[in-house]
Amino acid sequence: MVGDFERLAQEFVNPEAMLQFRVCGGQDARGRPQLRCSVKGSVEMQCQRCLQPVRVAVDSDRLLYLAASEAEADRLETALADEDIEVIVADLDLDLAGVVEDEVLLSLPIVPVHANCSMAPGADA
Ligand SMILES: [Zn+2]
Repeated sequence: MVGDFERLAQEFVNPEAMLQFRVCGGQDARGRPQLRCSVKGSVEMQCQRCLQPVRVAVDSDRLLYLAASEAEADRLETALADEDIEVIVADLDLDLAGVVEDEVLLSLPIVPVHANCSMAPGADA
């Protein structure tokens, strides 16, 4: 449940919303450790125009590379040269929940609004 994630619970109107997480570990062709993190579901946030709940679909699927240190992370980022791939510094007690939480937060709209909000400028009320 979203409510189990402290930071997420603050974002959503319905903390009981269920999101599906899947995190798979693996490595690329060159043996570099990777994490594929996908999150699917829908949540309710507060529309920033009319302040009513607005349903937001969460559908995130990202590839993360794991680096043992900041220096290695920098090197990896340069080597990969791909804006879509994120490199995170991971030690042995990697906080997976935190990683998933970051993914969800990143995939959310910064300013959630209804697609056809009744409070939209120029809309017929
Ligand atoms: Zn609205």
